[in-house]
Amino acid sequence: MVNLHQCQIVPSACCALCNALPEDFLHAVWYCEVISDVWSTLEWFHQTAPSHSNSFTELLSSFLFNREEFRAEIFVIMEFIQAQNDEPDPPRPPPMQQWRPPDPQCFKVNFDAVVFRRSSLAGIGVIARNHDGEAVGALSSPIPMAQSVADLEALACLKVVQFALEFGLTRVMFEGDSTVIINALLHDAGELASFGNILNDIHLHSTVFQFVKFVHVSSNCNLVADALAKKARSNVGAQVWLHDLPTDIVPLVLHDVH
Ligand SMILES: [Zn+2]
Repeated sequence: MVNLHQCQIVPSACCALCNALPEDFLHAVWYCEVISDVWSTLEWFHQTAPSHSNSFTELLSSFLFNREEFRAEIFVIMEFIQAQNDEPDPPRPPPMQQWRPPDPQCFKVNFDAVVFRRSSLAGIGVIARNHDGEAVGALSSPIPMAQSVADLEALACLKVVQFALEFGLTRVMFEGDSTVIINALLHDAGELASFGNILNDIHLHSTVFQFVKFVHVSSNCNLVADALAKKARSNVGAQVWLHDLPTDIVPLVLHDVH
């Protein structure tokens, strides 16, 4: 809920079980008083765990470094059971208005780039959604790795602008998780950077839109574009989908109404 709230998908980060505290990961699996019954059935659980953990890693390592290995196993298995029990999700409150593009004719287009290790290739992913959050187009394409990650991100941004133009979108809000590139675009900076020419191209292409806005989002609000970029690893060339998205992407889109 904390993540969803950060992405402005839900109005509150409050835990739906106890209604008392923000539901971060640690709260969801350990601290929430509603689930404490799960843990209290085994006395040694609380003896093994530190009295206060700052992160899930800290909590998990207290079990992993216990001499009796079965304790770590039981801990992990119970975590899984708990995660399973959380499905299906309780009905989510309706998304907040802010995530929507500013007007009904406006499309929201997310993009991302990933570098493939041990390869001279990178991948870009693009997902375009209408005002109701329905996917209208997606792209997953391998591209040659640029000289730097910033150059690659600038290139991904140029590609997404070209994609939107080819798609005939005229009112667009572009969302990316690259702070460097989005900031450079928003503040008309970066002319002297290695990706300065690409930024110029982006500005030039952008003049064609009736409405255009670049927005920075955190990477956990950009999961669909990220998954599409990773998917490019197994593509021979660029792949484009219109309404029927690949089956492994659909659940991400549904989850991420954002
Ligand atoms: Zn709770």
